[in-house]
Amino acid sequence: MNNFDYQRAGSFDEAIRQITAKNDTKVVAGGTNILDLLKYFLTSADRLIDINHTGNHHDIRETESGGLHLGALATNAETAYHPLVESRYPLLAQSILAGASAQIRNMATNGGNLLQRTRCYYFYDASSPCNKREPGSGCSAIPGYNRIMAILGTSEHCIAVYPSDMSVGLAALGAVVNVRGPQGDRSIPFSEFHRLPGETPHLDNNLQHGELITGIDLPQKGFAENYSYLKLRDRNSYAFALISVATGLELDGDIIKDARIALGGVAHKPWRIPEAEQFLTGKPAVRESFAACADIVLQGAVPYKYNSFKIEMAKRAIIRNGMMALDPSSQLPGAQPSV
Ligand SMILES: Cc1cc2nc3c(=O)[nH]c(=O)nc-3n(C[C@H](O)[C@H](O)[C@H](O)COP(=O)(O)OP(=O)(O)OC[C@H]3O[C@@H](n4cnc5c(N)ncnc54)[C@H](O)[C@@H]3O)c2cc1C
Ligand code: SF4
Repeated sequence: MNNFDYQRAGSFDEAIRQITAKNDTKVVAGGTNILDLLKYFLTSADRLIDINHTGNHHDIRETESGGLHLGALATNAETAYHPLVESRYPLLAQSILAGASAQIRNMATNGGNLLQRTRCYYFYDASSPCNKREPGSGCSAIPGYNRIMAILGTSEHCIAVYPSDMSVGLAALGAVVNVRGPQGDRSIPFSEFHRLPGETPHLDNNLQHGELITGIDLPQKGFAENYSYLKLRDRNSYAFALISVATGLELDGDIIKDARIALGGVAHKPWRIPEAEQFLTGKPAVRESFAACADIVLQGAVPYKYNSFKIEMAKRAIIRNGMMALDPSSQLPGAQPSV
């Protein structure tokens, strides 16, 4: 690990000033991702600014518009077990609890979770060419072992998937990310927060230099009656998703009034296709409707040598999760918290 200075910021504004004043200054929140990246020489920092002692941005509270605000520094555990999240946004609680382990969720923060980096094997192997780690060096995954890689929204420069479970829940719920930077505060709809790789796979999201996440806002509608998060992975605990699906349904009897479906494990960002959700509106809540919707979601999917199984797996996951959302009390082990 390279040597770096460590400082505690007294406020987010102070942290922003420090980031913009000196190159190669980064912030640390829970530290569960950035410290690994530093230890393995996958990222560098001359100075690490600890934002945990800034006093603000730990809160979880109702907003004036009837939604919920999640502070960037609230931990994943505090968020998932918060009574308002459990009762109004159980889909979010379930997606958080499907990730990592209890110990990691006790440290991991909401802001840091959104900014965790890909788990592509080659990104983590500093001796392999990787356009995300070292722009212009090439992508080892395209000709290599690409079983866990993306099938949607890829580019010739990168086929990595984005690993956050929480973000799949937030995408389905239509969250908004609040950020603060040198130019002031702004809000970014969740669908516009993360990026596809295109020609700039080293950029995971649309934060500008010096901007910090202050919190995440959820809209009023939480799909608390009919929801399900399904995570399919190689082990039932402590593993990232091969495919995950967050489904929220609003029903009128047996008819779907509103639907949200977001996928993880398929792309460089949580994958949501509004046309597929609109297709479900007015349809009966039956297997055939979810199957037709799955075909729309997976339109344009392109497999690589070792991951063609993901297309069928994603379709089946959408169908199974749609049916599970009809009766959240009957959910299967894949939807249970990691331990
Ligand atoms: C063994 C293991 C298994 C895991 N399994 C899963 C899993 O199954 N599913 C899953 O979703 N995740 C998983 N994770 C990832 C874990 O959820 C993330 O590491 C964690 O959420 C990151 O949060 P943090 O607060 O620790 O971030 P940090 O490591 O502190 O920071 C991560 C990045 O965000 C930046 N940052 C942090 N806070 C802010 C802010 N407020 N504004 C701007 N930048 C900020 C940091 O500079 C850094 O670049 C796993 C992690 C480990 C180590
Ligand atoms: S898929 Fe992306 S992260 Fe993985 S090696 Fe290729 S460029 Fe790097």
